[in-house]
Amino acid sequence: MIRIILFGEPGAGKGTYSAELVKKYGIPQISTGDMLRAAVKEGSELGKKAYEFMKNGELVPDPMVIEMVHNRFQQADAAHGFILDGFPRTVTQAQSLDQMLQKMKLELSAVIKIEISKETILSRLTGRRVCTNCGSTFNVVTMKPKTEGICDKCGHELIQRPDDQPDTILNRLAVYQKDTAPLIEFYRNKGLLRPIECEGPYNEALARVFGALDKLAKV
Ligand code: ADP
Ligand code: ZN
Repeated sequence: MIRIILFGEPGAGKGTYSAELVKKYGIPQISTGDMLRAAVKEGSELGKKAYEFMKNGELVPDPMVIEMVHNRFQQADAAHGFILDGFPRTVTQAQSLDQMLQKMKLELSAVIKIEISKETILSRLTGRRVCTNCGSTFNVVTMKPKTEGICDKCGHELIQRPDDQPDTILNRLAVYQKDTAPLIEFYRNKGLLRPIECEGPYNEALARVFGALDKLAKV
């Protein structure tokens, strides 16, 4: 059974790898970033509050995110495994996750840490374009859509995320160092950390991620 956290800096490619893992292993991706963007699009109270933090690259307060994930775990599909993408992002979130899993009598299989250089991260974030309809991501340099500005999957328009502007990107990376990086030690101490080298050709990096997951799937 695969129950993993996909961990890495903003722009490391968590969303891209998650989509591949969903396809291959048929388990749901639980992305707090996607859930928050959906709430913003809907215009719900949660979405309105969250947007005030997201637009500046700040973290949405822990209680809001924790409740969202807690509710998501109530859905039946999460019983067959899951990929957490973008959660936890603070030690408080990680401790809450521990408690939630304990109550459900579930254990994490591993924390897959995407290892990638600063330069790659910056070019990914500045070049990233997302579909306004289905959320698929592309990159103007490394993962071009077939037609410029148009989603390959659904034909809708591609835009730059508001938090992918240069100043906001720098703030997100700083927030990662301050609030999220301490989780590396947290999960290393639990023996769950699996660093995976993801620099270089995408297909080779993906094969390494699959390799790590195949081992877990057998357990
Ligand atoms: P990235 O990893 O590229 O920064 P995400 O889609 O994971 O992108 O997150 C986008 C934004 O959503 C974050 O900058 C933050 O404001 C908010 N967010 C997502 N997940 C969390 C979380 N677990 N805790 C707090 N804020 C979050
Ligand atoms: Zn699309």
